[in-house]
Amino acid sequence: MSQVLFGIDIGGNSIKFGLFDPDGGLLEKWQIPTDRSDSGAYIIQSAGLSVRAKCEERGIDSRGILGIGVGVPGTARPDGHVIRCVNLGWTEARNAAGEMSLLTGCENVKVGNDANLAALGEQFRGAARGADDVLMLTLGTGIGGGVISGGRLVTGAAFSAGEVGHIHVNDEEALRCNCGATGCLEQYCTVDGFVRVASRLLETFSAESLLRERAKSGAGFTVRDVFDLAKEGDQIADLAVTVGCGYLGRAAATCANILNPEVIVIGGGIAAAGEIILRKMKPDFEKYAFPDCRGARLVLGELGNDAGVIGAARLVM
Ligand SMILES: [Zn+2]
Repeated sequence: MSQVLFGIDIGGNSIKFGLFDPDGGLLEKWQIPTDRSDSGAYIIQSAGLSVRAKCEERGIDSRGILGIGVGVPGTARPDGHVIRCVNLGWTEARNAAGEMSLLTGCENVKVGNDANLAALGEQFRGAARGADDVLMLTLGTGIGGGVISGGRLVTGAAFSAGEVGHIHVNDEEALRCNCGATGCLEQYCTVDGFVRVASRLLETFSAESLLRERAKSGAGFTVRDVFDLAKEGDQIADLAVTVGCGYLGRAAATCANILNPEVIVIGGGIAAAGEIILRKMKPDFEKYAFPDCRGARLVLGELGNDAGVIGAARLVM
């Protein structure tokens, strides 16, 4: 093998790697834990060393690396600087692309926001194949958004386009979101958000629920329990999913009215819950979307955890 691409997806817990052929075909993937010690000072270094080790193993010299794309859970500039990345413990801007180039000898290194790259990945090889206008929402501990308009990734004036998680969906909320505002989508449609929605419903309604028993016993429950029990007909769990996904449908409609996407892709860890998400978000999506924007296909991501590395490789093709 002489020429390859690397796609790297840096997350708070693990760094995922993909080795690709020059056409973006995935040859091999692996991951290492994210070293968050010393405010994440060694993260890029450990990723670069892992790329070097793979090259040695495969007999690839540095001229054979055509490009390295890197996704981060933060704000990245086109010049390769990451200017905001609280999730990795980075408190100051850093030249992530420059560091990676020094470590690997590859000059074609680009850095992007992880949700943006997931959107690129799904457009390249997944659920949004062939579409020029794509909205991607990744649901996990937070909500990421990626926007492709007219075939181009939209990054925005301050490289923060697609912050869909902070669309306001609820005037009644008293708690503050991480961003400082109240009633953001991210307060409901995430790992902690669904649990909070269900807990509030348990206080408001007296219906029997396995969630109530779990809460009383001290065992507690997770977002997965909420979705599993909703599928089994537990009333409170079902209502929690209806509320959370209803907000998601409303926020997706707000985006659709601006972007008129062909496809809206739902990805991230929570998307593993499956079709129930689409079914529950659809009524509010259709209620609030402008008639000509209502035709967007709502689909689940096809690439799962690989969307980020595939999009990262796509970025440097
Ligand atoms: Zn917010």
